[in-house]
Amino acid sequence: MANEYKVFATFGFGEIRLPIFESTELFARAVGGETDIVSKEMYSFEDRDETSISLRPEATASVCRAYIEHGMQSLAQPVKLFYAGPMFRRERPQKGRYRQFYQIGAEILGGTDAPGIDAEVIEMLMTFFDKCGLEGATLYINSIGHNAPECRRGYVADLKSALEKVKDKLGPDSQRRVDTNPLRVLDSKLESEQAIIATLPHIADHLCDECKTHYDAVNRQLEVRGVLYRENWRLVRGLDYYMRTTFEITAPGLGSQNAVCGGGRYDGLVELLGGPPTKGIGFAIGEDRLLLSLQESGKSQAPKGRDVYIAWMGERAYAAAIRAAKDLRKAGFSVELPPLELKFGKALGQADKLGATYALILGDNEVSEALWTLKTLSTGEQTKFTEPDLLDYLAKQRSTSS
Ligand code: ATP
Ligand code: MG
Repeated sequence: MANEYKVFATFGFGEIRLPIFESTELFARAVGGETDIVSKEMYSFEDRDETSISLRPEATASVCRAYIEHGMQSLAQPVKLFYAGPMFRRERPQKGRYRQFYQIGAEILGGTDAPGIDAEVIEMLMTFFDKCGLEGATLYINSIGHNAPECRRGYVADLKSALEKVKDKLGPDSQRRVDTNPLRVLDSKLESEQAIIATLPHIADHLCDECKTHYDAVNRQLEVRGVLYRENWRLVRGLDYYMRTTFEITAPGLGSQNAVCGGGRYDGLVELLGGPPTKGIGFAIGEDRLLLSLQESGKSQAPKGRDVYIAWMGERAYAAAIRAAKDLRKAGFSVELPPLELKFGKALGQADKLGATYALILGDNEVSEALWTLKTLSTGEQTKFTEPDLLDYLAKQRSTSS
């Protein structure tokens, strides 16, 4: 993926390296003690001083912690950061769901929640997926308003009373959530609950004027950027500091774990962790699922073979081969130089196995004539070159093929 990360740099994002573990307290506060992630899925350990530390289940909390700890509010705003690395959750392992998995994510922290920020971060995400060769990704978006009586809290009250009326038709998980976190009922994937959920009130009808204006503007901004989206009123996040924009991206070939990315706005989080009032939005891509989907569609890039495999025989040829490898590498080609002498037949077999584009053949004849043989492995065609001509030729081939 490293090459695809360049997309983030083109949008002005810098990389942040985050610790693998943090104090349990950080995740309990930032992710929420009531969430599945913290209450059931976190790997927590007691340290020698009896404080509790946890393997990170996600990275937004760490980014916000770092923003506060390193006084990033005094940098040019907004601060735009991306990260990549392993996350840990104690889940039942299955296709697309692992206990150690990998996320690639980004966060924008600063003073404004202008709809252009939401739209641009989503545009970046879709550009990234496009660069990866992902096809059939679908972007769903929603607004969950903000945590106030005239907005989301009013909706949750309405939702709860609608749910009370159908409670006996729901499964045990959803029944519990009617009391603890009614929004989460909308997340249910249970077949038997779908028809009931379809009759529940929609948040769009309860947004306050400001949240509605923001949501409409985000949608318009996506359209201006040519980003296709679908609205999904059931896309919610169960935590108070999440607000307004939420989004999710699904990809084909993944069965029921088909979400490859989740994201949203979390304007209250930095303040909740003891920092200054700060607006924030971010996303996390599930890299394992992204790769699975690419594999399913035959799009996963097999590790790229070498540009040039140098087949050499004899001491003098080895010295020339070492020099050739150095020059080719300096010019940016990937080169395999076998450390032991191999018969040409065996060497060419290795070159094939490695998926090399060319084999450079260096034997006694080539060295004495100062004419080197370049074999194009896909066609079997062989051409002789002087040393400088060879570099020129390869450089020209590269520029015409890219
Ligand atoms: P899910 O509903 O699939 O459990 P989630 O809501 O827990 O997802 P987020 O916390 O939003 O997921 O994480 C963002 C992305 O990380 C997900 O969309 C998914 O692609 C990936 N992800 C989450 N948990 C796992 C896991 N255990 N194994 C592999 N990928 C995961
Ligand atoms: Mg989960």
